[in-house]
Amino acid sequence: MKCPGCGSEGIKVFPETVFNLLKDEAKKDFYENLYFACTNPSCDVAYFGEDIYKVGSIKTAIWYKDKSDNVYLCYCNKVTRAAIKEAYLKVGADIKKILAQTGACGGGRCRTENPLGRCCHMTIKHYVQELEQQRGEEGRKGKCNI
Ligand SMILES: [Zn+2]
Repeated sequence: MKCPGCGSEGIKVFPETVFNLLKDEAKKDFYENLYFACTNPSCDVAYFGEDIYKVGSIKTAIWYKDKSDNVYLCYCNKVTRAAIKEAYLKVGADIKKILAQTGACGGGRCRTENPLGRCCHMTIKHYVQELEQQRGEEGRKGKCNI
């Protein structure tokens, strides 16, 4: 299914994920049916299918739409991007250590708390890889090339 806002391919999500993340005023008109998430960061459609829900009717910031530091990567235990970064700077790129340090990825309520209804483990892993890359680039910048 393609997003009616931007035309990119949506990702199927559980109706209960959509319902749980809707603001209260949007909940009353909710109809349980097929829903898809639009993961295009520049599109303001959060979910579409039976109905269209824009980012504004979702009660939390969505990690793949909003790259701010204060957005959760782990929604179950409310661990932000900034907290993961802080842990990374402390313990390095070891995912197990980062999870232990932050308490991320231990909530078990991903199906209703995470905007995609999926475990945050891969998201955190990818983010740490991104941080590693950034660090590598900064390291090279700092070196004298002459
Ligand atoms: Zn879209």
